[in-house]
Amino acid sequence: MTSGEVLLGMPSLPPPTLSERRKTRQLMVGAVGVGSEFPISVQSMTTTVTADVNATLQQIAELTAAGCDIVRVACPSQDDAEALPAIARKSQIPVIADIHFQPKYVFAAIEAGCAAVRVNPGNIKKFDDKVREIAAAAKDHGTPIRIGVNAGSLDPRLLAKYGKATPEALVESALWEASLFAEHDFHDIKISVKHNDPVVMIRAYELLAESCDYPLHLGVTEAGPAFQGTVKSAVAFGALLRQGIGDTIRVSLSAPPVEEVKVGAQILQSLNLRPRKLEIVSCPSCGRAQVDVYKLADEVTAGLEGMEVPLRVAVMGCVVNGPGEAREADLGVASGNGKGQIFVHGKVIKTVPEHQIVETLIEEAMRIAETMDGDGAPVVSVS
Ligand code: SF4
Repeated sequence: MTSGEVLLGMPSLPPPTLSERRKTRQLMVGAVGVGSEFPISVQSMTTTVTADVNATLQQIAELTAAGCDIVRVACPSQDDAEALPAIARKSQIPVIADIHFQPKYVFAAIEAGCAAVRVNPGNIKKFDDKVREIAAAAKDHGTPIRIGVNAGSLDPRLLAKYGKATPEALVESALWEASLFAEHDFHDIKISVKHNDPVVMIRAYELLAESCDYPLHLGVTEAGPAFQGTVKSAVAFGALLRQGIGDTIRVSLSAPPVEEVKVGAQILQSLNLRPRKLEIVSCPSCGRAQVDVYKLADEVTAGLEGMEVPLRVAVMGCVVNGPGEAREADLGVASGNGKGQIFVHGKVIKTVPEHQIVETLIEEAMRIAETMDGDGAPVVSVS
């Protein structure tokens, strides 16, 4: 920033109140860096039949537009494996192939140019000990592997030892899986230890973070429908990211994957771990409200949907906290007596009748957005 320019309302990155990122090994998942030297990535998983290349690419395009950085596709059949080269080549974001038991699909995914493969070597070892060959092929192609331990599919040996999927059991399983690759000198690994209970999941990741320097992929598995899954994931990721733990995240929802991406991106934005885009600061309303705050906030949000600059818009229901909040935002309204005082960068620029509040806010938002640069950096010249 040069002298003569001011920052408006945006905290600088990284925020001073979160712990430093846990130091990890660095990986490249296609063009996306994963590890402590890189921004935290948002991931999701397609729900299409992978063999349906067009449908899968269409969904990947939607996920990309919503802010997804890396996408995973399931590969349970030969038809799916055969679709991987086209998907890996045409996807705008790196594609991870998700494979459970069949080594031949792991080799197919690596050959297909997938950016990474999710496979647990313990599963492979049980049926057909190809772990050494997989490690060699992955190393040759520069393909990282994600090891994903899930409470629901924990090794029976560890279930017997711990009685259930405790944090310690999940971590022991993950470290054992990683050791199966490490013994073949393969270390391009990231790990997840997912559980549906955020409390268990948080502890598992804390223990894992202390026990290795692999990048970690955060997830609350089977988190539930959108509302419950959003809350569980936000709570769990927040607790871990606050400590600097977590390099990629996936919000698992029983909802379309675009919703997962929106929630994941919003979690990172809320923690200032990803630059904020549009942010509506709206009050919850109360007995003092002199306007329908819910309706106003919904209409302003809808009118500004898709805005790509980090604009903070305050929508306040009365003149008690309204002017204060509206002044802190780039743009705001404090409503009262059938009118709205419109603030821009802390100054009242006009007062409009209630029925013109939404259109005025949208007009002013568009005007301010034009003064922000292409990256959305909230910098304006005051010369
Ligand atoms: S801004 Fe006014 S209406 Fe909104 S919650 Fe605060 S006091 Fe109530």
